Amino acid sequence: MTETIVTPTIPLTNFTNFNLHSALQETLIKNGFETPTLVQQRAIPAILTRKDFLVSSKTGSGKTLAFLLPTLHHLLINPNYYAGVRALVLVPTRELAQQIFLQCQQLLEGTSLKVGLVTGGEDFKKQQNLLRKNTPIVIATTGRVLELLTLDTAPFENLETLILDEADRMLDMGFSDDVLTIAKQCSENRQTLLFSATLTHIGVLKMADKLLKHYELIALNTLRDELPHIQQQIVLADDNAHKQQLLAWLLKNETFEKALVFSNSRIQATALCDPLRASGVRATVLHGDMDQKERQRVMKLFRDGVVNVLVATDLAARGLDIKGIQIVINFEVPRNGINYLHRIGRTGRSDETGVTITLVKHTEWNLMAGIERFLRQNFIRRTVKELAGKYQGPKKLKASGKTVGGKLKVEKKKEKAEKVKVRHRDQKNIGKRRAPSSDFKPE
Ligand code: ADP
Ligand code: MG
Repeated sequence: MTETIVTPTIPLTNFTNFNLHSALQETLIKNGFETPTLVQQRAIPAILTRKDFLVSSKTGSGKTLAFLLPTLHHLLINPNYYAGVRALVLVPTRELAQQIFLQCQQLLEGTSLKVGLVTGGEDFKKQQNLLRKNTPIVIATTGRVLELLTLDTAPFENLETLILDEADRMLDMGFSDDVLTIAKQCSENRQTLLFSATLTHIGVLKMADKLLKHYELIALNTLRDELPHIQQQIVLADDNAHKQQLLAWLLKNETFEKALVFSNSRIQATALCDPLRASGVRATVLHGDMDQKERQRVMKLFRDGVVNVLVATDLAARGLDIKGIQIVINFEVPRNGINYLHRIGRTGRSDETGVTITLVKHTEWNLMAGIERFLRQNFIRRTVKELAGKYQGPKKLKASGKTVGGKLKVEKKKEKAEKVKVRHRDQKNIGKRRAPSSDFKPE
């Protein structure tokens, strides 16, 4: 394994500089893409060399085109109609697979190249046929691919490109075994590409050794980069009831086209959405326990702006690119800094700006301080005068920004008392295989 940081070369400031297949150039122009983003400038020519790469660049910087364009170019200029699947893009959620599938379809307009979508919740037979019928590029989630691989076909034996988008997530515990199993079924001569905004931590690099050969690293960001286009605020809250009031107030008083509200659990997400709706907010909910049709319906409602508030679990934290999200609210502090970065990265995409607001109660102070420290960020303390609470933050702080003194027993008791009410309709899945508390299971 060799590893080098690819340094800037002469900027390629127009898509025409890449000499991509004419059909791709035409669709780029048709869809208004003129100037490649930085990651596209660096990654497209590199990937065209057919070597393996790890590419890291901040959320919303155009990574999808950076891997799709050179991959589609390669397929178009080297036609082979009987090679089975030639390029496979693996992603963590069905929603992201669908988004990339549509983007790929748009790029391939005017060509005879077909793209397939392989995810759970959709027709199994149709997807089985799709793999058998030599679909050159497939966008997929791992769960369904594994199911299809138990059949007698070997759809990836001629695979030329394997791409993991949100690669650190795909190589995390829970996902990595599935990815490695799939990779074993792929041709050894393939090119492998890993993309994410949070790629360069040690765990990922270790896993990368199992998947890539002599790769190079194109690292255009670090976890600690300032994000001037995203204003990061925190609002202190006394308890969950206070948080709910703050949430309703913010959604009524802030100016935004669309808002995305994150909750750490499926039950909490549903519990938050109902009162919002009852108070006239055009809100809906998305989490992994919903059936596929409902998930698709909800995504369409939000993308189309029929509803302008989506309350979601971390299912929506990775990769989704939805026009108009100007505010991200964390109802609870996310579990870690990486998670936080991806959640807030749903706003401030491309050249836009965004605001994020994290609601923090006293039991979450240390977690929040840990995230600030990890990311070397100082979140803006904001108070909502109309709903001022009692909690003003810890009286004494350690140098780390954390509370002096451990978690108090009283706080723990209070936490317990605050647990959200579990409604009957949320209990109907009890007894089935238990889903993880967050939406972080492989799909
Ligand atoms: P990332 O994967 O880095 O988070 P995406 O690939 O989802 O980012 O792209 C973010 C947004 O930027 C999308 O809406 C996409 O259409 C847009 N975009 C990508 N490349 C360009 C470009 N060269 N010029 C203008 N907009 C672009
Ligand atoms: Mg992306």
